[in-house]
Amino acid sequence: MNYISTQDINEIVSFKDAVINGLAKNKALFMPEFIPTLPIDFFQNIEGFNNNEIAYEVLLPFVKDSIDESILRNIIAETLSFPTPVVHIRDNIYVLELFHGPTKAFKDVGARFMSRCMSNFVKNGREVTILVATSGDTGSAVANGFFDVEGINVVILFPKSKVSQFQEHQMTSLGKNIFAVEVEGTFDDCQSLVKQAFVDIELNKTINLSSANSINIARLLPQMLYYFFAYKQLKKYNQPIVVSVPSGNFGNLTAGIIAKKMGLPIERFIAATNSNNTFPKYISSGIYTPKPSVSTYSNAMDVGAPSNFERLMFIYNNDLTKIQKDIVSESIGDIATLEQIKNTHLRNNYILDPHGAVGKICLINNLRSNEIGVFLETAHPKKFESVVQKAINNFPSNEVNMDNCKKVSISNSYKELVNILQK
Ligand SMILES: *Cc1c(COP(=O)(O)O)cnc(C)c1O
Repeated sequence: MNYISTQDINEIVSFKDAVINGLAKNKALFMPEFIPTLPIDFFQNIEGFNNNEIAYEVLLPFVKDSIDESILRNIIAETLSFPTPVVHIRDNIYVLELFHGPTKAFKDVGARFMSRCMSNFVKNGREVTILVATSGDTGSAVANGFFDVEGINVVILFPKSKVSQFQEHQMTSLGKNIFAVEVEGTFDDCQSLVKQAFVDIELNKTINLSSANSINIARLLPQMLYYFFAYKQLKKYNQPIVVSVPSGNFGNLTAGIIAKKMGLPIERFIAATNSNNTFPKYISSGIYTPKPSVSTYSNAMDVGAPSNFERLMFIYNNDLTKIQKDIVSESIGDIATLEQIKNTHLRNNYILDPHGAVGKICLINNLRSNEIGVFLETAHPKKFESVVQKAINNFPSNEVNMDNCKKVSISNSYKELVNILQK
């Protein structure tokens, strides 16, 4: 499988180069040259496969030119060392819990897979610096996934005072090859600093930069697996399955769409957003207007210019009608989010995090009675305890000890970032 730039079909690279380079020229993204389909009997017999076997079948066509089959099996086994259960909430509503990884958010699977691919590629090569912007969860997952991996340094940019203490602790407490940088600005500012570094020709002569944002295809591809795992658990009900994906940068949703294109029987997707409603506006009007992000309770989705929009356009060839057939989208405010956390706790004895709550509301608003609905619980409620406590009075606090945490602070300045990178 080759990978091509979303902006230039003549820019063709291997999986290995797509992973190491992160971005294509002119800040474009890499996409698989085509989406392979899996045989129908794979889906018919999916209950007979364990998760590692499913992952192998799904991922092999995308990576086989760059990764040996036995190495892929090892990478998968290390990546998927925790469960992804579907839990019944009520009636035809289910939740897919994606928070059982080491940093308690869904990004662990992508970060673990990518770090292992990367370390396989850079073995005995030049040292690589992973530069990543985070609204909270990416940073912790990437820090954890790459911690102590030889030949790789990680620089994480996060927006000052816009991540939870729990998230900040996960990024700043590891040390060794992990460097956390607090930026005076928003997530979008962090993301544009990262993009600027990637196109800086002078800088790239001195260091070997790579990305670990969901713009890196190695983080995106393994996220397809969630949808296969959900299908495996829900297939027995023999009803159309609708999946609601709490979305920010739209990596997780894009992965779901690729899974559907591989043949996975998902009826449709719901792109659930908070007040950062660039995508729902696009779906309803056909007009895409990226804008600065606003802060909400579901901060990992505070993205005003979703990076993976470009990939969705690429998959659908900019055809709005086709997109609308597969994806509905809705924006949910903070008040409704709290209300949902509170009511789900009272009525169904289940504690949502704010992202999952957004996903659940959108699911309920867009589900028919003959369908099975599943929303993704993308983080553990503990990770967002200050929000959850606003909805559930006696939700306990975590003790976070920031004593040994290390970070560097910079203003929203590219120059200051370059200084750090060149140290
Ligand atoms: C990153 C994140 C999201 C958004 O995922 P995207 O792939 O960026 O759309 C949603 N919820 C949580 C908890 C996250 O960490």
